Amino acid sequence: MLDSFHKGIVVFRHSNRLKNKNEIPYRNLQIASKQQDIIMSISNKQLQTLLNQLLSSDKIKDYCPNGLQVEGKTEINKIVTGVTASEALIDAAIDVQADAILVHHGYFWKGENQTITGLKKNRIGKLIKHDINLFAYHLPIDVHPELGNNAQLASLLGITNIEAIDQVSPLGVLMRGEFEQALTATQLTASITSTLHRAPLVSDARKQAIKTVAWCTGGGQGYIDTAAELGIDAFITGEASEQTIHSSREHGIDFFAAGHHATERYGVKAVGEYLQQNHGLDVEFIDIPNPV
Ligand SMILES: [Zn+2]
Repeated sequence: MLDSFHKGIVVFRHSNRLKNKNEIPYRNLQIASKQQDIIMSISNKQLQTLLNQLLSSDKIKDYCPNGLQVEGKTEINKIVTGVTASEALIDAAIDVQADAILVHHGYFWKGENQTITGLKKNRIGKLIKHDINLFAYHLPIDVHPELGNNAQLASLLGITNIEAIDQVSPLGVLMRGEFEQALTATQLTASITSTLHRAPLVSDARKQAIKTVAWCTGGGQGYIDTAAELGIDAFITGEASEQTIHSSREHGIDFFAAGHHATERYGVKAVGEYLQQNHGLDVEFIDIPNPV
């Protein structure tokens, strides 16, 4: 059933009529695939509430504010999703006349320079000039059990019997699972290359078939020791450090650095597809390639 108010600014496909604009009728955010054919709009505050609920962002301690980071126009008709709120992504969003951008890597990281100068002035200046809302969710987009970066990567690589490794918090940052059929390091390299369109950096330390695997998308190389201590055959993440290779060789765990960007495309993309399918919003994922 369609409900609308405020001159059609906000249209919800829910049967419960809204009493006021702060009341959000999203009681059951189930991940069903109800394809919407009517394009809806939503207010920026309502989109924030919807995303906060979907991603349980208030329960996750993070290094940046999650939610609406830069406020733009109230009415959102078009959303662009992308990995990082770079200037190139903002330019692309301006080109397609987006009212909001949703990213995994936003701004205002703990420890960074707090001034809005240089690169940050250019980015935020463009957002404000074009009245575009910037929504960013960092760890909540990594760990969501279905839409998150880790869950999406597991599904792309065919990893089964998935569980979170509970030594690391928030739960879901470091995951473990297995391949239905054991793979050689060469076979796993080929699988990662064809799936993510980027060849991984590989440390093939064990010279044995890989059955069990741990992974953390993005810059998760520091977790290789935890994975090794659990006796897992291989560890996949986005980036590598010099010391990661020594950990791989000395602990005897195969290691694959599959790209920070390449491993983190799929969470924010899945969240956008969820918004499109379940809330009828117009969402477009724009990939700005990054070799790291
Ligand atoms: Zn990241």
